[in-house]
Order: sequence, then C-alpha cells, then structure tokens
Amino acid sequence: MNWPTELIGQKMRRNLVVGNWKMHGNMQSNQLLLNRLIKGLSGFKNADYVVCVPSPYLFQARLLLENTNIAWGGQNVNQHEQGAFTGAVAANMLTDLGCTYVILGHSERRNLFYENNLTAAARFDAAIKAGLTPIMCVGETVAERDAGLTEVIVAGQMDAVLASLGDKEFAKAMELNMVFAYEPVWAIGSGKTASPEQAQSVHQFIRHRIARRNAEAASKVRIIYGGSVKAANAEELFTMPDVDGGLIGGASLNADEFEAICQVANSLQASTCLAE
Ligand code: PEP
Repeated sequence: MNWPTELIGQKMRRNLVVGNWKMHGNMQSNQLLLNRLIKGLSGFKNADYVVCVPSPYLFQARLLLENTNIAWGGQNVNQHEQGAFTGAVAANMLTDLGCTYVILGHSERRNLFYENNLTAAARFDAAIKAGLTPIMCVGETVAERDAGLTEVIVAGQMDAVLASLGDKEFAKAMELNMVFAYEPVWAIGSGKTASPEQAQSVHQFIRHRIARRNAEAASKVRIIYGGSVKAANAEELFTMPDVDGGLIGGASLNADEFEAICQVANSLQASTCLAE
C-alpha cells in the first residue's frame, strides 16, 4: 500500500481502551463509576472506549451508556447459539443488550475455567456470527517466557483462531474490526507491567502472524496491551508502534485512573495518529 509520505511512520489505527471489570461491581457502584466516566470521557473524540461489565449489569450499562461515546460489552460468550447450557451466555443475548464488543480467551477463562485454543476459536466464530467485535486475548505464562517460548505460545493461540476462519469469516471479522489483546499472564493483576519493548516485540509478532494470512488486514487490526496498565505507564506503552491501546483490569474500576488512561489514548491519537 502507498501511504502519503507525511503519514509514513505515523500510526494509522485509532486507539482503543477497554475496561474489564471482571467479577466486580454492584448496581450502586456501577452507577457512580459509569456516571463519572460519561462525564470524564465525553470530550475524548479521538479514540474508542469500551467497558466490559459482568452480564447481570449489561442492561444497566445500556441504560446509562446509550448515546454516549462509551460502548459496552461482555466478558465472554458461549460457542453455542442456544440450548441446555446452564450458566452460559449466547452471543445473541449480548447483542440483544446492545453490546458491540466481547472479550474472549482471557487467561482467567483459560486457567480457571479450562477454556483452550479450540473453544476460544469456537467462541470467536460465534461472536462474529452475531455481529460482535471480538477482543481475543493471547499471552504467555512466566514459565513459558522464561523458557523462551513466548512466540511459540502466542503463535499457537493466534493460529487456532486464524485457522478456524474461512475466507468469508475472516472478511466478516475484519468488517467487525476484530481486536487482539496481548496479555502476558504474569502481568495480569500482578503490578508487573511488560516493558514497552517487550510489549512491542510481541505485538509486532502478532501483526506478522496476521500478515501471513492477509497483509492489508494485519496493518488495520488493532492490537491492544493488557497487564497492569495504569495512568502512570499508559503513555510509554501506547506510543509503541504496534500497541493500539489497552485492556485494563484493576485500573478500570477506578474512575480517575481509567479516565486518565483514556485521556492518554485520546491525546496520543490527536498528536500522532489520524483521527477518524
Ligand atoms: C485484565 O484483566 O485483562 C487485566 C489486564 O488486568 P489488570 O489490568 O488488572 O492487570
């Protein structure tokens, strides 16, 4: 692709910040937090913002967030369309509640609920069929990193998804602006953030992996970083060339911290990237 010369070296993708509330919140605290974010983020026009809330609170999120610049999404989806799957949530149920995004393959789902590359791929397929933008998480454990296996692990996680998509599904995933999240397991909730260089190296690897399938798509896919992102380290991470924003756990429950992270994404976009 021939970019205009003034754009060479600039990031072409719009930053994305996603809050993962995990299993936290109640009606009252959610209302306080969302109202603070609605106000705080209302002027941030240059990036995209999402909160992925526990399923019972999606209706509340919809009531509060409709017609704001904050989207809402689920934290997982079942691979089946409907049926006798007690406790599971179908993709169409999320779209029914106005969700546009869903987190998939989070390491907590993989480690605590025995999900694997195959089920993650099946969930990805169910999400795109329903019209949800998947945020597919990949990342290595500390033992895997120490053994020099980071790229092997991430490649396996990526390839399971990419190989399961036929050309039609791949095109649909691109239409929906599929997102990958690099989340080193050792950095999640640990306070140990990957260095900007460590993050960049894996993000670039992920982009190359997508480019093996489709180079143009690879240049467009947003790859966000997750793992102990805070207001204090967001800028050094988000300025890396292949880091297009963040997936934020703990800090997304604190209105000031989350707003500050969104502000970083917004102002970096305004200064170094093309706004949509
Ligand atoms: C996460 O849950 O995806 C996450 C990145 O958590 P934290 O920001 O708390 O490390």
